[in-house]
Amino acid sequence: MSPERRRFAVVGGGIAGLATAHRLGELCRERGEPPSLVVLEAAGRFGGLVRTDRVGAALLEAGPDSFLLAKPAGVELCERLGIDGELLRVDAGGGARVLVGGRLRELPPGFLMTAPTRLWPVVVSPLFSPWGKLRMALERFVPPAPARDDESLASFVTRRFGGEVLERAAEPVLASVFMADADALSVSAVLPRFVEMERAFGSVSRGLRRSPGGGPIRPHGGVGFAYPRGGVGRIVERLVERLPEGAARTRTPLRALARDPDGSWRLITGGSTAILADAVVLACPAYASAPALRDVDADLAREVGDQRYASCAIVHLSYRDADVARPLEGFGFFVPRSEGRDLLAASYVSLKYPGCWPSGELLVRCFVGGALRPALAELSEGALVSLVDRELCAILGIRGEPRFARATRAVRSMPQYEVGFPRRAASIARRLASHAGLFLAGGSLGAVGLPDCIRSGEQAAEAAYGHAATRSAG
Ligand SMILES: Cc1cc2nc3c(=O)[nH]c(=O)nc-3n(C[C@H](O)[C@H](O)[C@H](O)COP(=O)(O)OP(=O)(O)OC[C@H]3O[C@@H](n4cnc5c(N)ncnc54)[C@H](O)[C@@H]3O)c2cc1C
Repeated sequence: MSPERRRFAVVGGGIAGLATAHRLGELCRERGEPPSLVVLEAAGRFGGLVRTDRVGAALLEAGPDSFLLAKPAGVELCERLGIDGELLRVDAGGGARVLVGGRLRELPPGFLMTAPTRLWPVVVSPLFSPWGKLRMALERFVPPAPARDDESLASFVTRRFGGEVLERAAEPVLASVFMADADALSVSAVLPRFVEMERAFGSVSRGLRRSPGGGPIRPHGGVGFAYPRGGVGRIVERLVERLPEGAARTRTPLRALARDPDGSWRLITGGSTAILADAVVLACPAYASAPALRDVDADLAREVGDQRYASCAIVHLSYRDADVARPLEGFGFFVPRSEGRDLLAASYVSLKYPGCWPSGELLVRCFVGGALRPALAELSEGALVSLVDRELCAILGIRGEPRFARATRAVRSMPQYEVGFPRRAASIARRLASHAGLFLAGGSLGAVGLPDCIRSGEQAAEAAYGHAATRSAG
């Protein structure tokens, strides 16, 4: 096969699929080969969960609004796209708050997901009771659990740090990030480093002290996030601009996949003609990949299809500054389950991104739904706005009506990495390896967040390119 005939198909035009296509384009160009590539996207637009909307001169993010700098894939992609000069750091000075007993309390600086990395801020923190602090301090004396397959986040944190850390810090933070139930969430999937620290050092606190610089995850409350000036959608815009001519196919859902006798992949879409490719990367949600995989490998399709997703809704509301009675500190707050409220978390957008919204007004972005309250994500836009308005008025002492309101649903948007996920992901990877030229990227194999999705897409692209190169050499 001549290099010109290396054909690639990427399914799904979210960030993972677009990063896959971009890396494939780079690899082909580096070798002076014209990229032969299609990106099939079911919707009428690219970006998937990334959605930056314009409201007058302001930008609203219905999906991700920034990305973690500690994971370099996001910044590195922006550099290669020539938009690194447009990146701004999130000024998250003051950190996050947690609602406890109806009052907002600061998450101690240096609190890393579930564990304190600095002693003094925890000692003086009003977030935890004296007994909760003592229990946390005793973590280093808690014997490590016997080696086991996996464990829930709730069980791990309670066992090591006590129930208060779970209730007031770990669950609200991680349940908001993953829209998940801490009793179901796999600790090995979401906090593998902490599991490893327990194994290696006998204690997470001891592990944190010995790992230089606190390792790859930055403490909450730091300045660890960035976003492009034109919103996260700017990354999508650039990625789409870089696609080779004719590669972008919106409103083209993959329906079925088959292997031809010569080893090529045949992609059946809604259109009349099939698409042939030497390598295929499925970067669509697991519930879309599974039916397409059924004729290729029924067991693989079942395992991929076992991935559950949670839905959530994002509600933006703005209020006159003068109508907000309580002083605002930090960049937003998390709401523990024990508070009995519907809100999961809120972020003060206009404070976090200065200049993004008309001055004199506070713009708040709120999250509801997730695995614990799935019915809320199905409410009408009007009902969502009223519900969130009521909650914000109670928590922040707001007296006036919202000046702006918009609710957006993100249906089946958050993969739920439940206990047992690492074993299932390994089994999927093993089965996949027996189908040469077929790859997965994005949430199906555990990527959450823009940098991880970008990295998984780029790795899939390299594997796909390597496969096609081997085929053409053979
Ligand atoms: C409300 C919310 C806020 C978030 N905030 C952040 C944040 O601030 N920072 C961060 O880093 N991450 C954040 N995330 C996570 C991040 O958005 C995701 O991890 C990431 O965008 C997932 O990208 P993806 O390409 O894997 O999937 P998706 O974006 O879901 O893309 C998959 C694409 O596949 C398409 N598709 C589906 N079926 C088919 C088919 N049959 N054929 C072809 N195409 C198909 C879909 O239409 C979609 O475009 C947030 C997520 C949500 C829901």
